[in-house]
Amino acid sequence: MKKKFLTQQRAVITLNNETELNNVESIETSVQSQTKSINITKIEFIEEFSVSKACLKCKKHIIQWNSQYLLKCDFCNYMMRQESCKSSVLVKIVVMDFSEGMEMNELHLTVFHNNITKLLNTEEVYDENFVCSSLLQLQNLQLTYNTKRNTVIDIQQL
Ligand SMILES: [Zn+2]
Repeated sequence: MKKKFLTQQRAVITLNNETELNNVESIETSVQSQTKSINITKIEFIEEFSVSKACLKCKKHIIQWNSQYLLKCDFCNYMMRQESCKSSVLVKIVVMDFSEGMEMNELHLTVFHNNITKLLNTEEVYDENFVCSSLLQLQNLQLTYNTKRNTVIDIQQL
């Protein structure tokens, strides 16, 4: 585990150094090679369900909030009313990938709010029990994910 973490860190640093010199074409190519589509029969586990608020200023997601009323963004440091920030749901799923021949690969993937509402066909996705049981009941899914970040780009029922 520790070795893997170090490799990922190095990759991030390299990417930052190159960003300025990259032209649009090479960025698109690298994004494409980082995505993979697989078909799965079901979601094995839900690893995590969380609801977070999105910052009004920078749109980044804030997991923790300071008080009942106040929200301070960890990214831009702006402070705002908690009630005016949109809530969004994040789910971490565990699926089995059989696409690499005989070897079974366990994947831990993050699914963001927009894909959850699309998949469950409702905007009411704030109830943990509802969302998790609905996701686990789905069968035969196709998902496309970012292989570097392990985030789901698209997920749909076949
Ligand atoms: Zn912010």
